[in-house]
Amino acid sequence: MTVTSTGAPLTVLTEDEALFRDGVSEFAQAEIAPRARAMDAAGRYDEDLLPKLFEMGLMGIDIPASLGGAGGTFFQSCLAVEQISRADAAVGVLVDVQNTLVNNAIAKYGTSEQKSRYLARTAADTVASYCLSEAGSGSDAFALQCRAVPKGDRFVLDGHKMWITNAAEAGLFLVFATVDPSAGYKGITAFLVLKSDAGFSLGKREDKLGIRASSTCELLFEGCAIPSDRVVGQIGRGYKIAIETLNEGRIGIGAQMLGVAQAALDAAVRYASSRRCASSSRTPRRGSRRRACWSTTRRACGTRGSPSPRRPRWRSCTPRRRPSGSRRRRSRCSAGTATRRSTRWRSSTAT
Ligand SMILES: Cc1cc2nc3c(=O)[nH]c(=O)nc-3n(C[C@H](O)[C@H](O)[C@H](O)COP(=O)(O)OP(=O)(O)OC[C@H]3O[C@@H](n4cnc5c(N)ncnc54)[C@H](O)[C@@H]3O)c2cc1C
Repeated sequence: MTVTSTGAPLTVLTEDEALFRDGVSEFAQAEIAPRARAMDAAGRYDEDLLPKLFEMGLMGIDIPASLGGAGGTFFQSCLAVEQISRADAAVGVLVDVQNTLVNNAIAKYGTSEQKSRYLARTAADTVASYCLSEAGSGSDAFALQCRAVPKGDRFVLDGHKMWITNAAEAGLFLVFATVDPSAGYKGITAFLVLKSDAGFSLGKREDKLGIRASSTCELLFEGCAIPSDRVVGQIGRGYKIAIETLNEGRIGIGAQMLGVAQAALDAAVRYASSRRCASSSRTPRRGSRRRACWSTTRRACGTRGSPSPRRPRWRSCTPRRRPSGSRRRRSRCSAGTATRRSTRWRSSTAT
């Protein structure tokens, strides 16, 4: 086995990566964070925001510069998703699906003509969607029923897709359908569908509890004829494209979660360190700060006011009075016995 190493641990960013991350973070805090609450309430992206994402190169991060992309790397896409999700996870998922799923699939499996035609568009002004799930095939994605019937130099698509991210904004859809249901997963084929294609339409948009600005829609295909030069990869090999791109897309979703967790921590720490007790100008004591963190976290999660079964105990762990017994006797007992004794004592004195 060949081992290659640059000498730096994986957790250390290169200078370029750190600069990129800081640039995206600055953009996200200036342009996305102030809009996040209103976009979530409206259940829509601010229409000024999408052109800014394209201008910043965030919709074609690892598309080569020759096709109008930012010429970055997959890792940079993940850094961008993390920093954007720190400002708004809904914008994070928009950027994630575009870069780690659709651009990635076309770059890896598309013909050179498909790359120059479609990646140039996704880098410049076209949002893209990744369309695999159906009402009866979620985790079991290869049970999909959407049909693609060959007819001359075209494939005619019939069926529907569910829960498709970015669908309301997208102009390009990477759609998985089967050319031969009897072949099982080996019938699955990937197609590029345009919003303007006859026989294609958007169905119901889900009204979600979270990441509400991100669109999640049903797609309908009724006799939608697609030229055969829009097949991505080989006919019957769409399952491989689906598995491999989803494996990488999951890294992007991990980055999204990291951004969300960081934002929650930032908010809790900010609140806890700026809070003042009513009767005192001093920063609250440790217990109060912990309570403050907890209530900020609950507020951020929308559970304020409702008792949580997992709420931590705030009661001090230090006994007010030592359990009886000589120092020698206590020091001889095992840690388990000491804990049990101390717990018994605490519960007997609890009010
Ligand atoms: C906000 C949102 C955005 C989405 N965006 C997209 C998108 O852009 N493109 C797309 O194609 N899809 C998208 N989806 C669909 C998503 O991929 C599916 O929801 C997911 O694959 C799970 O499918 P399901 O909801 O049908 O759950 P099910 O497959 O019905 O699973 C329900 C539960 O059963 C468990 N389970 C399933 N199978 C087994 C098993 N064999 N053994 C034990 N447990 C099992 C699962 O872990 C899960 O907990 C999106 C979904 C949501 C909610």
